[in-house]
Formats: sequence, C-alpha cells, structure tokens
Amino acid sequence: MGDLIRRNICPNCGGTNLELDCLYQYGLIYKINKDGKVSKKYRKQDYGTMDCAYIHCCDCGWGSPDADCGNDSEGYLLMDKDWFKED
Ligand SMILES: [Zn+2]
Repeated sequence: MGDLIRRNICPNCGGTNLELDCLYQYGLIYKINKDGKVSKKYRKQDYGTMDCAYIHCCDCGWGSPDADCGNDSEGYLLMDKDWFKED
C-alpha cells in the first residue's frame, strides 16, 4: 500500500472522467414458512460501508488495481501515489 495523494486524473490515459465505486454490504433476510421452507419474500438490511472503494475511468476503462483509494475528509479523491510511477 503506497501513500495516498489527491489526484483526479486517470493514471492510464490522463483523462478526468472518473468514477468512485464504493462497496456497501446488504443482507437479504428471509422468513421461514410454517412448513419449514424459506420464504421467497425478503427484506433488505443495510449493513453499511465495507470501507472499500475502486476508481474507474470512463474514457479508457482503467480500474484501480486495489481498493487503496477513496476520499479525504474534505471530499477530495485520493489515489495511490504508486499508480503514477513510470518504470
Ligand atoms: Zn483512463
């Protein structure tokens, strides 16, 4: 895991048409019928964030290789500094 930096350009194509995909957890909760079968009806339970997010570039299709990104307390997009290293 590298250092996180404020950056809003794609490391692959330099474009700025980026999306942040934040993963959340949901449960589908099924009642058990009197005959012992699991009901087809369910209700959804929101278990909140997984603290896991990916960045996606809408221009070239690049996706962040891991979930080491997100936003800081001021709302700026954070990316792994290592994604911008030229080797
Ligand atoms: Zn791109």
